[in-house]
Amino acid sequence: MSKKPDGYSNIVECPYNKAHQIENGRRFQTHLIKCRREYEKCRTLNKVQCPFNATHLINEPERQHHVENCPDRVIVDKFRMPVVDSIQALQRADNIKMIPQNPLDDEEDWDNDAPTQAYDPQKYCEANNIIRQCHGMQPSERKAFRKQEHLRLGDIRKTK
Ligand SMILES: [Zn+2]
Ligand SMILES: [Zn+2]
Repeated sequence: MSKKPDGYSNIVECPYNKAHQIENGRRFQTHLIKCRREYEKCRTLNKVQCPFNATHLINEPERQHHVENCPDRVIVDKFRMPVVDSIQALQRADNIKMIPQNPLDDEEDWDNDAPTQAYDPQKYCEANNIIRQCHGMQPSERKAFRKQEHLRLGDIRKTK
């Protein structure tokens, strides 16, 4: 027994007896099992469920120690703080939530069984023979635009 264990600074307190100060790691695990057995002999301990894994049943005094050392804790932490491993992942378009053109599209997910046609003003005008707005045009441009519109509407009428 001449071999000195490393990590003497890493001392933890036994959850069953504060007087037991043990080096963390395997030594502590062995101690814990022994101490647990001793305590279970003379009293009934409350069992608590691990918050990270429902199959972990822990003796009440060990709860804090288990929560700090639970092997499933890592998964939960990762889930809470997803790690982006590259700048490319951040820049990928599908990972970025785009602002929808029509916010109603997102809110009406529950009403998905009847897909509604997107409103297309261009199509709507053509189908209804509405002469498109020509605001902000010079008179000459407006004249040309109107002429074009009449031709366009004439085409629509012909094809109907
Ligand atoms: Zn102990
Ligand atoms: Zn656990």
